[in-house]
Amino acid sequence: MSFDTLGLSADILRAVAEEGYTEPTPVQAEAIPLVLAGRDVLAAAQTGTGKTAAFALPILERLKVQANTSFSPARHPVRALVLTPTRELAMQIAESVATYGKYVPLRSAVVYGGIPIDPQIKVLRSGVEILVATPGRLMDHVGQHTVNLSQVEVLVLDEGDRMLDMGFIPDIRKIVAMLPNRSQTMLFSATFSDEIRRLATEFLTNPAIVEVARRNTAADNVEQVLYPVDRERKEDLLIHLIRRDHMKQVLVFTRTKLAASRLASYLDRRGVAAVAIHSDRSQPERTRALEDFKTGEVTCLVATDVASRGLDIEELPYVVNFELPFEPQDYIHRIGRTGRAGLSGIAISLVCMDEVELLKGVQRLLKHQIPYRVVEEFVPDRSVEVRPLRGFGPGGRAGSGSGRGSGFGAGAATPEHGHAHRKPLRGHSGAPG
Ligand code: AMP
Repeated sequence: MSFDTLGLSADILRAVAEEGYTEPTPVQAEAIPLVLAGRDVLAAAQTGTGKTAAFALPILERLKVQANTSFSPARHPVRALVLTPTRELAMQIAESVATYGKYVPLRSAVVYGGIPIDPQIKVLRSGVEILVATPGRLMDHVGQHTVNLSQVEVLVLDEGDRMLDMGFIPDIRKIVAMLPNRSQTMLFSATFSDEIRRLATEFLTNPAIVEVARRNTAADNVEQVLYPVDRERKEDLLIHLIRRDHMKQVLVFTRTKLAASRLASYLDRRGVAAVAIHSDRSQPERTRALEDFKTGEVTCLVATDVASRGLDIEELPYVVNFELPFEPQDYIHRIGRTGRAGLSGIAISLVCMDEVELLKGVQRLLKHQIPYRVVEEFVPDRSVEVRPLRGFGPGGRAGSGSGRGSGFGAGAATPEHGHAHRKPLRGHSGAPG
């Protein structure tokens, strides 16, 4: 299928072609005609499916008729509002809107927290048709009367499930109440939980449902693999894998900010350029870290789940779960950072004994076991075990001995190195604080 058949005009198709997109992704193919027809849309699509273009292209198309080159701000009221949970997502969406709309005389802007509000006020004053915002900062602008939402026709609620998690729904209700001219609403969410369906009933009218990624499933083009390892040796196994596989761009997840910072500085000290990204860091620091990662200046971006949300790094080849997340759903979000837009990716999990229960939760959600491999120098040292071993790695199973219901797969593990040299345990630990 080609973009030409979707009902988009030449100036938008040209921008799309310049991005190198040759055919629409499934969510684009389904959603674009519906949005052009004015329908409300409830779409289950996570970041990485091309959902930004799925709403941005038809919005540009719809608003194009009102585009003008007048200098009067009044001629450029906000007509489309995109609400998204994180700063990074907001920036990325705004960038995409600007790219896709570069041949259309519509103005777009982005507002998010963590940076001074004054420059944003200036931009809003000059008039913008498409506004991308995080709910908190938009509410600040509303409070200061620096934004007028009365002309908004199209509303996009992006990453609905995460907005729920982050407690944004009360703000969103307030914002929705300020949109008397709203005629079209879209809700995008990685999953269709019951809560999302309730929100859809609240905010959408007779929505068309677009469901491209099946509920709670990981992308097929992501190869998943786990390595059993002692907690104390995770850092060194990570370095070993990065060097062995010549990894150039690795997004590494930890559960806590402290663990992210510690791991990044440990990697850095050991000669693997790394930087941590988490919510304690200032916005310029986060932007800088992301830029350095995108340009290849740093090999590892170490992130927490919240900070990672919405990171869009094109062709990201590796995601590493340095620690499994407490919420199985976050595993799917994390590994969704690789294998974007049809490219293949590898998701590696470093799993220690303490995480077997978390692993089981992930595997229950995935409905399959994650294949595991062992690097012989890093085979977990059972002598340090204090808990009964249940199905940890190949051979040496304590407990039931059946392996059924065990955390790790029953399939054969693949040893990757011939020699079984094991270093003594050291004191360093990247355990979460
Ligand atoms: P999104 O899910 O909107 O965050 O998009 C994920 C990535 O896919 C972005 O880097 C886009 O530039 C890219 N992308 C979006 N649509 C297409 C397409 N039709 N063909 C190729 N890449 C695309």
